[in-house]
Amino acid sequence: MATYHTSLVWFRNDIRLTDNEAYYKATVSSQYVIPFFCFDEHLFETSSFGFPRIGEHRATFLYDSVANVYEQLSSVGSSLIVRKGNPIEEITSIIEQLHIDAIFYGQEPAWEEQQRESELKVMLQLHPNISLIPCENFSLIRLEQLPFSLQNLPTNFTAYFNQIKNILPITPITVFPKPVAKKLPPEWYDTHLEDSLPKKKSIFPDIDFTKDSQETYFVGGEQFGKERVKEYLWKSNAIQVYKETRNGLLGKNYSSKFSAWLAVGAISARYIYDEILRYEEERVANDSTYWLGYELFWRDYFQLVAKKYGKQIFLPQGIKNKKQPNEWSREFAECWINGTTGIPFIDAAMRELQQTGFMSNRMRQNVASFLIHDLQIPWLYGAEYFEYQLLDYDASSNYGNWGYIAGVGCDPREVRKFNILKQAQTYDPYGEFVRHWIPELKSSSSSYPSPIVTLHQ
Ligand code: FAD
Repeated sequence: MATYHTSLVWFRNDIRLTDNEAYYKATVSSQYVIPFFCFDEHLFETSSFGFPRIGEHRATFLYDSVANVYEQLSSVGSSLIVRKGNPIEEITSIIEQLHIDAIFYGQEPAWEEQQRESELKVMLQLHPNISLIPCENFSLIRLEQLPFSLQNLPTNFTAYFNQIKNILPITPITVFPKPVAKKLPPEWYDTHLEDSLPKKKSIFPDIDFTKDSQETYFVGGEQFGKERVKEYLWKSNAIQVYKETRNGLLGKNYSSKFSAWLAVGAISARYIYDEILRYEEERVANDSTYWLGYELFWRDYFQLVAKKYGKQIFLPQGIKNKKQPNEWSREFAECWINGTTGIPFIDAAMRELQQTGFMSNRMRQNVASFLIHDLQIPWLYGAEYFEYQLLDYDASSNYGNWGYIAGVGCDPREVRKFNILKQAQTYDPYGEFVRHWIPELKSSSSSYPSPIVTLHQ
């Protein structure tokens, strides 16, 4: 006998059916389930420096991920109710028209998402008969598994990891199976509530989707995320050399590329970690397999930082209350964005970002350091531009990493300044990366610009 007659599951940055605690728990405890997703109106705002908050690459990836869950559910007689606007108002409109017993959702670490959770709680005070069931979908380690309280979160990653490693490998690691779907309640069909999937253009009317994206390895959706895990681990065995290749700049397998699916939650960190443990048991356990798991803890750490510090990680002064430059060159900033600074190593990466929505970790560090420390432009400008362009944009990881390099985040060092010329010699010694993204460098009559600043070794 089901505990609830009808439950609503609010899908957020956990757009998947496997290892989705909220969807799993709702399904096994309810007779009918209404899966719900809302393209939050915050997505359509402009940032403080005037960038749209979402660009073509992420919009496509996000939309495809939602469409994938919609298709999975529709094929088994259920559906995904997709809306655009304020998710709390949309949920209110549903519960005013249908009897709902419970709302399940995955909690999120970042400020805006936490605000939405608070709004939901306030709204539900008017509906005391509806149970609210928060679940954990986003991080690798569950909060109750941490060996410290959030308030006592270590102030840098190394100190955090030194505490975490005592509980590794994380066991038990619960990966919730994909449950047998439950139908929408019969009453749904008596209402005039829409349940077809809106077209991408109607969700994102201002985005130009006609530009061809070069070289994309990224297709949104749970199914493609799982395929990527299979490919990176089990088919190519690329994981076995991850530690040696992870600073690479060109190609599909120098790193896992899991970030895009993780950011929208099309796959979960728990699922990946569990696959790594299985790989170690069935094939090989070495420094590389360990290191891929280790990197997932960076992601977890930045989430905890976001959860603990809330709005502060998005402010110019960060969590260290450090003053930012007031005067800076708009012209330099434009060159940085367009990949026309005249520093090939930087320009190649910025062009890659513009064309594909992706950039390697090594290059993210370099272009961030260059913007902040060489061009003397406020870090928030770069972070907001990344938010607009990155298809794997994740609030905690993006603002956490930018704050870290700017010296306003969780890091014992004052600043992280990279020596760009040295980095180029080490990571692109033959210039393959720069020639790939800056084709004009291949011709002798090049129109490539002169450097806007002088760099020193
Ligand atoms: P892999 O090297 O294969 O690593 C596996 C996974 O570990 C990644 O998918 C990611 O989930 C996690 N990870 C690795 N490094 C980091 C890190 N430094 N911080 C947090 N998680 C990490 N990552 C995002 O997912 N979204 C962002 O918006 C984002 N913005 C960034 C901005 C800057 C300025 C910098 C320096 C880094 C940023 N990162 C961000 C972290 C990192 O660059 C990407 O996670 C990584 O490049 C994604 O590629 P991958 O999946 O192939 O990584």
